[in-house]
Amino acid sequence: MRKKEIMVLGSGVSGIGSVMLATKMDIHVFLSESNSIKEDTKKTLENKNVDFEENGHDLKRLIESDEIIISPGISFNKLKKSYPEIDSKKFISEIEFASRFTDAFIIAVTGSNGKTTTASLIYHILKNAGLNVGLAGNVGVSFASSVCNYSYDYYVLEVSSFQLDHSISFKPNISIITNISPDHLDRYNQDFDKYTLSKYSIVKNQKSADFFIYNSDCNVTNKIFSRVKINSKLISFSIKQNIGPKHAIYTKNKNIISSINKEKFMLSTDKIQIKGIHNLQNSMAAISVAQILKISNQKIKESLKTFKSIPHRLEHFLTIQKVKYINDSKATNVNSVYYALNSFDEPIIWVVGGIDKGNNYDDLIPLVKKKVKAIICLGKDNKKLIDIFSKCSELIISTDNMSDAVKSAYEISKPGYVVLLSPACSSFDLFDNYQDRGNKFKEKVRKL
Ligand code: ADP
Repeated sequence: MRKKEIMVLGSGVSGIGSVMLATKMDIHVFLSESNSIKEDTKKTLENKNVDFEENGHDLKRLIESDEIIISPGISFNKLKKSYPEIDSKKFISEIEFASRFTDAFIIAVTGSNGKTTTASLIYHILKNAGLNVGLAGNVGVSFASSVCNYSYDYYVLEVSSFQLDHSISFKPNISIITNISPDHLDRYNQDFDKYTLSKYSIVKNQKSADFFIYNSDCNVTNKIFSRVKINSKLISFSIKQNIGPKHAIYTKNKNIISSINKEKFMLSTDKIQIKGIHNLQNSMAAISVAQILKISNQKIKESLKTFKSIPHRLEHFLTIQKVKYINDSKATNVNSVYYALNSFDEPIIWVVGGIDKGNNYDDLIPLVKKKVKAIICLGKDNKKLIDIFSKCSELIISTDNMSDAVKSAYEISKPGYVVLLSPACSSFDLFDNYQDRGNKFKEKVRKL
């Protein structure tokens, strides 16, 4: 009998994780990459006796493979245009594949913003409580590679909409949607509805014993309840009053109050290390998970005090002559910048720009008028930003490299100001990725 063959598309972290797991499970696997494959990756594949191809996909194999694991970085729509013969039913995500080989309790976090922060905080709380827990997904280690190398009782997974798109039976025990706002619309034919429904597929297989934690302050999330059938138990979080279902967590008079467990949870918002309203929301989502898992209130509170902010997310890394320098390079959409601008009372020099993903900046205009002293555009093409924001700011400067952007910010700033890199755009026009952009920003500032 012919042995089942799985084809993996993409030789990045996710693709290689799938290859390793398939090999361990004795599944015949073939890797295909549309660009060139890095030399060290080729060595890894050769050591495992895995066949591969680069600089394009073999159509015959695409048609004949039993299943195709598509890496999150690959646009299925584009692939389908190049290879119209392919059968979309054969495509699965790496998350789907890996979930077949673990019985662990799965906590999956998605949303437009706050995924990494929330997933990392949940992991921190669970680990401090002594649970045998792994953190995987979009946070560096792929789920497949973690399942291949470790045996955890609990997994905290950060999952993007791209990973959910080709998930068929993936069923988290606890799923979380932090919030939904427009992002990555270039991958969804500029259709926000499609993107929203993709996020909601995180709950589609959940049963009545499972939990769904959501943000009841998010208008997009609230609307979806009439459209998607949800079987899981609902828990809402809100920075306003308790307006959600029976089990909820909310803030009142600067206290977080939870009615999830019989034992009441209450904590002053000042006791949380990570700052800003958005981080309060992320913390409430994480507390909900801990409460479901019956972690003691004392352990939860200890962990919230010790959790530090993650690099490239509103990272205050230096103060020079009473000017604070903040690296928020991971703010790659409008909503995250909205929260960044809201997080400061000081006058702001705002460094923004890169590849615009079809952004609508309307929500930022009042905040920019109120808080921003000068705008420094940092991108290959700054025209759209200049057109929109030149009316809202006293000063707008166009740059196409980090060195000039940082020098300009330094020259304009005065004691008491904040220089904030919060780009609202992706980084690939001038940098390798958002980490590279954030690191170069820090490097240039440190050299001032
Ligand atoms: P993600 O993994 O979803 O991209 P991160 O935790 O990495 O989220 O944060 C990305 C950006 O979004 C950062 O600029 C951060 O300050 C901002 N952010 C974090 N949590 C939220 C939230 N709940 N709502 C809006 N913006 C957020």
